[in-house]
Amino acid sequence: MPPTEQAVTGRRPPHATGPGQRTDLLHEPRRTDCPWCGSTRLSTRLTTTDLLQHRSGTFVLDRCDDCAHHFQNPRLTPQGLDFYCRDLHDGLGPAAAERILGARHSPRRHRAAADALLRFGEPESWLDVGTGRALFPAVAKEEHPYIAFDGLDAGAVVELAVADGHIEEGHRGTLPELAPRLAGRYDALSMFHHLEHTPDPRAELRAARTVLRPGGHLLIETADPESRCAALLGRWWVAHLQPQHLHLIPLRNLHRELEDLGYTVIAAERRAAHVPHDLTAALLLALGRCLPAAGAPRSAVRSSALRRALRALLPRAAAPAVAAARGIDHLLAPAARRTRFANAYRIIARRDPDDASGSGGGGGG
Ligand SMILES: [Zn+2]
Repeated sequence: MPPTEQAVTGRRPPHATGPGQRTDLLHEPRRTDCPWCGSTRLSTRLTTTDLLQHRSGTFVLDRCDDCAHHFQNPRLTPQGLDFYCRDLHDGLGPAAAERILGARHSPRRHRAAADALLRFGEPESWLDVGTGRALFPAVAKEEHPYIAFDGLDAGAVVELAVADGHIEEGHRGTLPELAPRLAGRYDALSMFHHLEHTPDPRAELRAARTVLRPGGHLLIETADPESRCAALLGRWWVAHLQPQHLHLIPLRNLHRELEDLGYTVIAAERRAAHVPHDLTAALLLALGRCLPAAGAPRSAVRSSALRRALRALLPRAAAPAVAAARGIDHLLAPAARRTRFANAYRIIARRDPDDASGSGGGGGG
């Protein structure tokens, strides 16, 4: 019997009549205005499928012609997010996800990010939001053992991170939910490629302000939808990843929002945040689409003898191409960092005291 989505994942889409069937329970109504600025001048950036987990469904990323905000439209409902993203959030996604997204987690990158914030202060307590397995805190605390690193994540993986000793305390849930309980507790807060996954990035920024002490620092690294790689690679650009990425925020929008919420932006740059993996990730996504790994939850895959043979051979045959792509990514990285081919940006903002801002910003989302 061929594998079905239900057999592999143990779950069907809510109220679907067949594996992967798209229903209203998974998608909100399509918006006619930009969730960032309210403009109705929208255009479709791309239409794509789930290139990572190969679950059924079609997803659309729209772009606002006024503010350049990018967003999934129609957006997944909480049930849809749970169906499509829970395995990834719980660290149970396909092994390919680690290969494709793993370049973000090099120890060198994590050390550099910590050092970037430490130029502006010496935090005693640091909360990493969207921490996953807490790979950033695990590296940073080796260099800075006097900082108490905690993590927050919606997935069960945060509990494993505590058990592994990567963080001292793990908070399971969303930042807007947990912010009132954590108010004023942290000197530093980091979000590495976290805002892309959140239904309401503004609520995350407000909640971060609640959790930070006055004078505390917020470090954000996020994909840049205005990178030239986005236009060049289209649906194969890993930061366009659907259906996981709900929002892609241009740097100037995030900068302005932080200032409006009662932060002072003290650093903003693309150079250091660039992740040299665009070509490698695109190739791995394309290979995964040609031949999903054995056991991948894709009901369309029928295990004919030919496909089984190809599935066994292709990874070995493709290995030199993947190695070449990785080499080119690293070779081009210095040039990409200096140009608009940089694929991400980093912002560091200081939380202003409440009386320094008309917004107050203490609502916690
Ligand atoms: Zn807009």
